[in-house]
Amino acid sequence: MLNIQYRTYDLMLRYPFRIALMTRTYTPLVLLEIEVEGITGYGEASMPPYLGETQETCIAFIEKVKKNNILKNIDIQNIDLEYFINEIDNLEPQNKAAKAAFDIALHDLKAKAEGIPLWQLLGSDPEKMPKTTCTLGIDTPSVLRKKAAEATDFDLLKIKLGSDSLVQDREIIETVRSVTDKPILVDANQGWKDPEAVLDFVAWLDTQNTLLVEQPFEKTNFEAAAWLSSRSPLPIFADESCQRLSDIPLVTGAFSGINIKLMKSTGLLEARKMITAARERVLPILIGCMSETSCAIMSAAALAPQCDFADLDGPWLTTNNPFETPILRGGKIVLTNRLGIGI
Ligand code: MG
Repeated sequence: MLNIQYRTYDLMLRYPFRIALMTRTYTPLVLLEIEVEGITGYGEASMPPYLGETQETCIAFIEKVKKNNILKNIDIQNIDLEYFINEIDNLEPQNKAAKAAFDIALHDLKAKAEGIPLWQLLGSDPEKMPKTTCTLGIDTPSVLRKKAAEATDFDLLKIKLGSDSLVQDREIIETVRSVTDKPILVDANQGWKDPEAVLDFVAWLDTQNTLLVEQPFEKTNFEAAAWLSSRSPLPIFADESCQRLSDIPLVTGAFSGINIKLMKSTGLLEARKMITAARERVLPILIGCMSETSCAIMSAAALAPQCDFADLDGPWLTTNNPFETPILRGGKIVLTNRLGIGI
């Protein structure tokens, strides 16, 4: 007996979230449930508006999966994740978040059917969980100080830059540094233009206890990224430039690390392949997120011990997460022994 259900959900942000490209106050989601023989797998699609998917396109995709009977013959005793996820991927190009919702729900279902936590299904060691960052969007100095002060449970901060100018970006870092000396990750979200000026700025960031810099230039500008990476004292990570497995050969050489997100990779199956491909190329890995509930966050957290850095702060930046907030201990998300995703 197979039952696929979904509902739209608007995930509200604690603060209006400004990054280099845009500001938003909520993120549209679709929450998915796949029930087979009385066991339910939970999935989630998170669709920040600038990425091109909507609740409507996601629902149309889910309906297409149903209409094509892709999951009809699913065997709860032995779910072939590779087969079903590939069938779903082959239905349409794009629809990455919608595909991630299926991938996450199928992984949850398989782990529950096997009576194990998701992290065990993925072969992760909870002892190797990296600390997760708390992200501070672009804001006024007083709000930035407030946000930084509120992030007491986190040992790492991620600072969004790519504001109106590098002068203003420097002021943002100085504001954060006026209240905390915690290590920071910096994310320009494609907002920087002039490589020479950016190199000087990154050299200054290196004096500010910065661990890495994410996506300095427009996502297709591999030339500028390569120029900067070869000269930068800090690792330069690809986020928007690295979406799926097929992008890894393209970013190799231009960047010194990658940011994997389930909503870009189409889910856990491909994220695991990206980890393998990145390790073969000695690229360090950050596992990140969109604005997501505990469903997608705890799915990514189950894979995080296989990565070097984690930016899985969705539940702490939003106000209406319909699931329990994950447990944070020593700045790390705790993986429990609950079955599946554990929500
Ligand atoms: Mg980023």
